[in-house]
Amino acid sequence: MEKFVKINFLGAAGVVTGSKFLIETSEQNILIDCGMFQGLKVLRELNWEDLPIDVSSIDVVLLTHGHLDHVGYLPRLLQQGFKGKIKGTAPTLAIAEIILRDSAKIHEEEADKANKEKLSTHIPALPFYTIKDAENTLKQFEMVPEDKWIQLSEHMSCRFQYNGHIIGSTFIDLDINGKRFVFSGDIGRPNDYLLHKPKKPEWADFLFMESTYGNKLHPKDNIEDVLTNIVLETLHKKGNLIIPSFAVERLQTLMYILWKLYEQHRIPNIPIFVDSPMGNNVLDVFKRFPKWHKLSVQDYNAMCNHVNIIQLYKETWETIDDKRSKIIIAGSGMVTGGRVLTYLQQLIDEPTTTVVLVGYQAEGTRGRQLLEGAHEIRFFGKYYPVKATIKSIESLSAHGDQKDLLDWVSNIKNIPEHVYLIHGEPTALDAFRVKLKDEYHWNVTIPKLSDVQKVIL
Ligand SMILES: [Zn+2]
Repeated sequence: MEKFVKINFLGAAGVVTGSKFLIETSEQNILIDCGMFQGLKVLRELNWEDLPIDVSSIDVVLLTHGHLDHVGYLPRLLQQGFKGKIKGTAPTLAIAEIILRDSAKIHEEEADKANKEKLSTHIPALPFYTIKDAENTLKQFEMVPEDKWIQLSEHMSCRFQYNGHIIGSTFIDLDINGKRFVFSGDIGRPNDYLLHKPKKPEWADFLFMESTYGNKLHPKDNIEDVLTNIVLETLHKKGNLIIPSFAVERLQTLMYILWKLYEQHRIPNIPIFVDSPMGNNVLDVFKRFPKWHKLSVQDYNAMCNHVNIIQLYKETWETIDDKRSKIIIAGSGMVTGGRVLTYLQQLIDEPTTTVVLVGYQAEGTRGRQLLEGAHEIRFFGKYYPVKATIKSIESLSAHGDQKDLLDWVSNIKNIPEHVYLIHGEPTALDAFRVKLKDEYHWNVTIPKLSDVQKVIL
């Protein structure tokens, strides 16, 4: 094989979202992750542009995990001519399916709305992709085992190893002609409630490393204490506690912590309602893949039995009418959509309500407005006064912080020829670059979007 590799940074370079890295060799062209850009409008608009490469020349896609910013662009890849397999671990493919179906549904609804209200300058407005496109994508999925080398071509092989970020998530080793390319994926935390410790790479000639929290340490506040106090205050006020939550991982973690607090007699038996159709599907992935998380079958069942899992939208209204003090966990996490909107529309103007935000709140979202103390907020075209108490718990992140990231590379026995820092905001990337330079004296680059690097093997 020819002795060089071309790396195309097609996403998550200089930014957090849109993970896509094309590795071109004389034998095969491999795309690592195929995510959508999210957040600011300038980034989201990039999703609509075709990739600046010959998509039909990609042989295979390897997925680190099922989050939207790692898989959400796949149906567009097919539209641009990709015909190969999409490989990932079984739970990653299960999560990716949930995410793609949900994302397609939202795209169809948005296009419908734009057409009805004549909002778009494009007539008719077309969805970014449809449910049918998402279903066609699933046909190209191919499950890979954990920890085993898979031959891709004569001089190329890959391996997927557990990295504890969400269920199914892995980092990927890609060996090309005897040199090891390591793609970190998103790196989890060593003491997660539900997931095992991330495994660590032992060799990396070329390292592609996420840096989301490259400049931060997670706050040390004790989540259980904080949640206990909030639940007790809610009971004291005879009110409702509403937790807008991300459906993948966060929602299941909250269920687990609340169940544990009850088991330990730290909180009384306050009714808990979990209202997220997508969250229910993720819960099912936990059930199907017990080896991929720490919960025993008994604990899983006890946790599910402890909460009221809502299926139908009719039950959402019954829950709102239920006059008891209660906890409601519902999607979406940044209050941009989902059933949490109905709860907040009905209950945010009551002083007895408490809302706890449990993750990053992007600019332009209702979650961010609440966090910043908005005195009124809009739901379904109408403004409602915010009389509820708004709180935030920051330490439930699924990403390792700076210390965890440094620890993750600590088993690497060689000096990498090159380290590329990806998947981070500029300040996080640069802080982590300095840290790696100080601690390991490694050769570190922060690639920009659309950069192409040629490396000699
Ligand atoms: Zn992720």
